[in-house]
Amino acid sequence: MKSLIQGFLNVLYPPYCVICGALLPMGEWEKGLCSSCGGKIPFLTGNRCKFCGRQLEIGEVCHSCLEHRPVFARGVSAFDYEVLRDGIARFKFHGVKGDGKVFGRLMAEFILLYHEGWIKEIDFMTEVPLHRQKEKERGFNQADILCKSISHHTGIVYEKNILTRTKATTPQSKLSAKERHENLKNVFVAKDCADKRILLVDDIFTTGATLNECSRALFRSGAKTVSIFCLSVTE
Ligand SMILES: [Zn+2]
Ligand SMILES: [Zn+2]
Repeated sequence: MKSLIQGFLNVLYPPYCVICGALLPMGEWEKGLCSSCGGKIPFLTGNRCKFCGRQLEIGEVCHSCLEHRPVFARGVSAFDYEVLRDGIARFKFHGVKGDGKVFGRLMAEFILLYHEGWIKEIDFMTEVPLHRQKEKERGFNQADILCKSISHHTGIVYEKNILTRTKATTPQSKLSAKERHENLKNVFVAKDCADKRILLVDDIFTTGATLNECSRALFRSGAKTVSIFCLSVTE
């Protein structure tokens, strides 16, 4: 019986720290963080590029974003991808939804701490979509899990399925920056979102190509502004 209850709780909450993977005593499952990671959550802070969120010595925009200026207005990420590499793999590829709830709660904490002003400047948030087939294989869309949790903890309205991915594409991680752009051309369509200020959510910011193409689709459907919020950014 005890193992049955434990098994059930494991579905709701991870029995390990979502950041470092350390096993947690049962009473701390709900937190999803060990005392070390929870005591000093490794959020990204400091001077950062206003589009990609990468660290900057001076100024507002990094070289790469100056060269290929994104169409979205601004972007932030809560963590360095290296810190969450294993955690994101557990969440995405092992299908552990409880991890996503904890990650979403941490994203909510991050936005409330460092970008609280954004909350009243946003009409709703939406998720970067997976192709239907991919979502079926994985059983869920990681960005959808994050959105639900962020919404629960911040009150930001979550509108699901605003964007649709019209075809399955080669995984972006297998392509060069230029190929990534070509690969995604006209892949996304959006429902009418006339005059809306939108927060677009995903798990990893790499080149920003996917987020940029999603933003283009939102603008084609009338969006007023698009801001980006990711769980992590690669350096
Ligand atoms: Zn930890
Ligand atoms: Zn940048």
